[in-house]
Amino acid sequence: MFRFTNYELRFTNYYMFNKLLGKFSWDIGIDLGTKNTLVFTPEKGIIINEPSVVAVNTRTDEILAVGEDAKKMVGKTPSHIKAVRPLVDGVISDFEVTEKMIKHFVDKVHSESFVLAPRPRMIIGIPLEITEVEKKAVEDAAKSAGAREVYLVEEAMAAAVGVRLPVSEAIANMVVDIGGGTTEIAVISLGGVVTWKSLSIAGNTLDSNIVEYIREEFNILTGEQGAENIKVKIGSATPLREQLEMEVKGRDLMNGLPKAVMISDTQVREALGRSTNQIIENIKTTLETTPPELIADIYEHGIYLAGGGALLRGMDKEIAQATKIPVRIAEDPLTCVIRGIGSLLNDHALLNKIAVPGSEEV
Ligand code: ADP
Ligand code: MG
Repeated sequence: MFRFTNYELRFTNYYMFNKLLGKFSWDIGIDLGTKNTLVFTPEKGIIINEPSVVAVNTRTDEILAVGEDAKKMVGKTPSHIKAVRPLVDGVISDFEVTEKMIKHFVDKVHSESFVLAPRPRMIIGIPLEITEVEKKAVEDAAKSAGAREVYLVEEAMAAAVGVRLPVSEAIANMVVDIGGGTTEIAVISLGGVVTWKSLSIAGNTLDSNIVEYIREEFNILTGEQGAENIKVKIGSATPLREQLEMEVKGRDLMNGLPKAVMISDTQVREALGRSTNQIIENIKTTLETTPPELIADIYEHGIYLAGGGALLRGMDKEIAQATKIPVRIAEDPLTCVIRGIGSLLNDHALLNKIAVPGSEEV
């Protein structure tokens, strides 16, 4: 005889109740970034926003912590505990750990929801430059984390949706997403990416620029985290109205002892300059390869900046000056992609139009 288990009954009741209210959905959207992972559910909006870090015990392969908790361990772990960033340049570099990270976050969503939702549909953001093998890795990771169906959407496209650009119309728009591992420059029109460029010069590169500068200029070794802190606090792409400076602590390479010096916004700008200029150069070359009909639209509507790198002081101004095109920073650029994915969860017509074919369909 067919019988419901307790759990199924509870779930069925919940389903019927919500169906009556017309709000039932068990879908999940994930922005799997090199630096940060964000999760969206239609009921709760952005429910998770944590660093893409996993702490693994290398002796037992056990996952000790994920996200914020794991990030606190970076650089401070005993030798048998490794803090892993499973994504590099936007693609999965450690499959098993990525899968466990997704599963951890999905389980967390479920435990915070009123009911366990079995096998959700998932929308996952992917970079523009992705191989079939890498695409399949994302799908597989999502499926083994419990997804019933996986939709892949280019992050640049999701960012454009997050900015509420009319992506499916015959109007071209340019989006520049400066993340942790990659900068993606994309011209979008009629629901597709027309011209694009993906660089591995992004937030992490800017941090390394600062580490290098401090080593060369002051003979001091600092960590990436400290460098990122400097970038966020006093970093800029264009000269500032008021001077800023802050203390840098590190190890003196001459004698191995701790040392502190002051670094100014001008010095940090000089350190960042090489990378910010390269990003700008690449925006220009992408514009050069864009068909003239589309360029006219971009001149009119401007370039939209998304991703954490959009927050670098004066980055918008520098790009505008170099391209002679108005530049707009997306509202809350760090959540732009996930908010775009979130609106796609509610707009199936648009999702079907812009989702990239999965690896099985090719
Ligand atoms: P990803 O999608 O690759 O995970 P994000 O869009 O989350 O990347 O952006 C993370 C990057 O943004 C990091 O390199 C971080 O240092 C940088 N970032 C965050 N806030 C700022 C800020 N205020 N100024 C400059 N860079 C920032
Ligand atoms: Mg991103």
